[in-house]
Amino acid sequence: MNFRLTEEQEMIRKMAADFAANEITPNAGEWDKADEVPFDVIANMQELGLMTIGIPAEYGGDGLDWLSKYLVIDEIAQGDAGLATTVVASSLLASDPIWVGANEEQKKWWYGRMLDGAVAAFCLTEPGAGSDALGMSCKCVKDGNEYILNGTKQFITNGGFAKIFTVFATLDKKLGNKGLCAFMVDKDFPGVSIGPKEDKLGIRSTSTTQVIFEDVRVPAWMMLGGEGKATPILMETLDLSRTAIAAMATGIATAALNSAIAYAAERQQFGKAISSFQAIQFMLADMAAATETSRLLYQKAAWLQDNDLPFKMVSNMAKMYAADSAMKVTVDAVQVLGGYGYTKEYPVEKYMRDAKITQIFEGTVQVQRMVIGKYLSSNGYNYYV
Ligand SMILES: Cc1cc2nc3c(=O)[nH]c(=O)nc-3n(C[C@H](O)[C@H](O)[C@H](O)COP(=O)(O)OP(=O)(O)OC[C@H]3O[C@@H](n4cnc5c(N)ncnc54)[C@H](O)[C@@H]3O)c2cc1C
Repeated sequence: MNFRLTEEQEMIRKMAADFAANEITPNAGEWDKADEVPFDVIANMQELGLMTIGIPAEYGGDGLDWLSKYLVIDEIAQGDAGLATTVVASSLLASDPIWVGANEEQKKWWYGRMLDGAVAAFCLTEPGAGSDALGMSCKCVKDGNEYILNGTKQFITNGGFAKIFTVFATLDKKLGNKGLCAFMVDKDFPGVSIGPKEDKLGIRSTSTTQVIFEDVRVPAWMMLGGEGKATPILMETLDLSRTAIAAMATGIATAALNSAIAYAAERQQFGKAISSFQAIQFMLADMAAATETSRLLYQKAAWLQDNDLPFKMVSNMAKMYAADSAMKVTVDAVQVLGGYGYTKEYPVEKYMRDAKITQIFEGTVQVQRMVIGKYLSSNGYNYYV
């Protein structure tokens, strides 16, 4: 067993870490206060290849392995989870259906648009269909060489400025998972419109909106995997992107832990640094153990993905555990900072607000428990592969 990163993995991790330290961390508080998407920083990230981490080398990308992609997300989330969400939604979540189910022509179109700077968004959730995603109403109807899309998608990350979308729709609700279709859609297709930006608790530097499709005509060649064949594409996409959210949650927890360690060493009470009190040391020890375990879990899921081994159980465990841990670690970081932790003078209250979303999106942590429970009932538990 070898936990050391390869030279290439360490190079990309360090590049993301340096970028976060120089361009993200110093400004994240301001973006949060202003509820503002940092488009200039996204443009710089595009230049460095950080917005296109999902593109294989044969289509002009860096051809990163899965572990490298998640290392980038972990490092960016240490600077700002909102920006990490923008990257995950565009280069992984919205692009994973292409990775999983697109043909050559479709891959060339999608990856070409991304290399030209188009940000992507993933349109699954609807006002009436969240955890029960397959209960969606968004409909697709074939008309000659086109499909006509009608429906409203809810809570779409990057919705406000994405240029390309992966969209899930049903041929007929009654067909259940046999009626699901997936499409690549261009923002400029007539009938696509965007709702107002949500006013959120955390990840305020990212844009979350409704995306509305009214009689949108999509050429049939832009359908992924064939008519009614999108359920396996969706399931694999969600399993893949759950590892990315685990990496994001680990990044948030790491930032909170580091803030708490630094503060505890400096803050004096009763004539001593508070880090000398056992109550504080125990809290920091628990926070560090949970953060380390989160990182091990997402990196094991990445290793399974990189070796073409079954990863569903571990990616869902990683997302569930890292999200719950990030929530606990960030609440405890506020506790270590006492009254100062409760103010906006320190970043820990932002980490706490940002951590909450990791328990909700890409399936809630309850949904992950359902997936893991079902998997165990059919397959049992096995650590070794
Ligand atoms: C900021 C943000 C960004 C998002 N980005 C995207 C995006 O880019 N693309 C996209 O498609 N979606 C996105 N989402 C949607 C997100 O994935 C959903 O909000 C999430 O899946 C939960 O759905 P819901 O909000 O409808 O909650 P519901 O499904 O209504 O769930 C409400 C509660 O009930 C629980 N629950 C539901 N069913 C069960 C069950 N069977 N057993 C036990 N408990 C259950 C849930 O765990 C939850 O606690 C985003 C959401 C937010 C808030």
